[in-house]
Amino acid sequence: MPSVNTLDPILAPYEGKDLLIPKEANMLTYQLIERLMEHSCDKATLKLLARYLSKQSYEELVTERIINHYCGYPLCDFRDPGRIKEMQINKLVSKLKLPRSYNHKYCCKKHYQCSEFYKQQLGTDALFARTKLDLPQFHPKAPESSIILLDDIFDPEGKANPDDIMLLLREMSISDPHLETDNLIDQFNNIVIREKNIE
Ligand SMILES: [Zn+2]
Repeated sequence: MPSVNTLDPILAPYEGKDLLIPKEANMLTYQLIERLMEHSCDKATLKLLARYLSKQSYEELVTERIINHYCGYPLCDFRDPGRIKEMQINKLVSKLKLPRSYNHKYCCKKHYQCSEFYKQQLGTDALFARTKLDLPQFHPKAPESSIILLDDIFDPEGKANPDDIMLLLREMSISDPHLETDNLIDQFNNIVIREKNIE
């Protein structure tokens, strides 16, 4: 299955519009989810999605991927109908957020964390309420330009500001105390310390 590396054909009908009416916004959201629910995408595409997806619509995308038996993280093309699937868990159990409950949603713990880290950075406003949709892709003021992927942090090419990353990790642990962000923070600190020693 080829990876999605451009959203241009989906975005083309809306080119030049700085604002979408609700009907257009719903259509575009639907098309983006449909495109990505059965494919992996590259990092640039995932970042660009931040301009269009809210936390809620991202969760819808993750759910659709799981229904299609794909790892919930859009950068991943792992598929296993025996393991990745929608599970009806009773409300009490899901509230307890049992350890490893991500196991039937993501291929691994890392992708669960990557997905939560990405979601943390998405806006809460609906697409039809967003303006400046006509900014060129990756314009410095566009939402996608400030997205940091967890994948990039643990990749030596990452050029993100350590303070921004720390803030995101702390916010993640507040919004989901079960996420085990402590070891992410530790790992990240080790990387920063190592880089400082090299300088
Ligand atoms: Zn995965």
